[in-house]
Amino acid sequence: MGYAKRTHHLAPEGAYQVLAKAGQLEAAGKEIVHFEIGQPDYETFSNISLAGIRAITEGKTRYTPPSGMVPLRDAIAEDAGRRRGIRIHPDEVIVSPGGKPNLFFPTLALVEPGDEVIYPNPGFPTYEAMIGVAGGVPVPVPLLEETGFSFDLEAFDRLVNKRTKLIILNSPSNPTGGVIPRPDLEHIAVLAQKHDSWIMSDEIYARIAYDGLPVFSIASLPGLKERTIIVDGFSKTYSMTGWRLGFGIMPKELADRVSLLLTHSVGSTAHFTQFAGLEAVRGPQDMVNTMVSEYQRRRDVIVAGLNAIPGFTCRAPQGAFYAFPNIKGTGRTSSELANFILEKAGVALLPGSSFGKYGEGYLRLSYACSIPVIDKGLARIRAAL
Ligand code: PMP
Repeated sequence: MGYAKRTHHLAPEGAYQVLAKAGQLEAAGKEIVHFEIGQPDYETFSNISLAGIRAITEGKTRYTPPSGMVPLRDAIAEDAGRRRGIRIHPDEVIVSPGGKPNLFFPTLALVEPGDEVIYPNPGFPTYEAMIGVAGGVPVPVPLLEETGFSFDLEAFDRLVNKRTKLIILNSPSNPTGGVIPRPDLEHIAVLAQKHDSWIMSDEIYARIAYDGLPVFSIASLPGLKERTIIVDGFSKTYSMTGWRLGFGIMPKELADRVSLLLTHSVGSTAHFTQFAGLEAVRGPQDMVNTMVSEYQRRRDVIVAGLNAIPGFTCRAPQGAFYAFPNIKGTGRTSSELANFILEKAGVALLPGSSFGKYGEGYLRLSYACSIPVIDKGLARIRAAL
């Protein structure tokens, strides 16, 4: 019995693998500091949880339209449009169980076998997974430390061509925390128009940016919304990873195709989860701001601490909640070092190489955890090294 080729390249996400290994060590009695998994440590904000609970008790436990219930799509269209300075029609909004289906299904709807897809490397592992399942040709563009881990425009200019069907951007970025500046987005936009390529802009961390830095959406540039899929969601902004709620914004014809893919795969997003989402969008936003200010304090602590470890250098990330220190000075590969740190220091973190070949020489540490935990983890790493 053989398995279909389209699944051969699939590999687990590094974060889940390290989490499992850390879990084994914990089961054996070892205490582990967790920097590996990319999810906020905040509980879901209580107004949102209560709205979800109320929805369950009121019987909001049914199927909904595959692309999401209308009041939520209306609310997202208004909110996401206002934040980006564009007009979004609710028909252009696709609600999904997490942001991930809005990465995967538009890719399946657009990419034919042999089409080239440009994507960031190091980058979120789902990009490579979905490109491969669609039969696309993966074309990685490096994110370089020297340019703030933005997007290597020289490499991009060399790689983009008329076979480029889709260009995936992720700003702020997982795993680097880099933000793509507006002039670079303008440059990418010109070439996307020239080669008639689609753009997938993963903006799941758009609200988590520091030092007052504006995060600009490529879809806000004139004429770009028509060729862009904005991917966003509730997991990070509202600390709702386990509720599974995200959305995509895309031209209606594409949205209709994606809606059919949802119809025949997940069916719909959980009904009560969508009510929780409605409260998230319509309710007070002060907890988001509080959380982001706290992340910024943690960022400053972890970056300073990492820079004090011999062989490590770390830039201050501009968004998301990941530090991505350069560890080339230690003379070890990123996976050797990550394993050593887990086993000797009891600190779980990810090798940069689990985000693609250009991630070699770096580690990823999620600082969505308290400052005492950050201090403890850093002290242990320093001692072990
Ligand atoms: N994009 C990026 C860059 C991410 O880091 C994540 C979550 N780790 C997602 C998309 C998907 O998040 P979710 O499916 O929970 O909305």
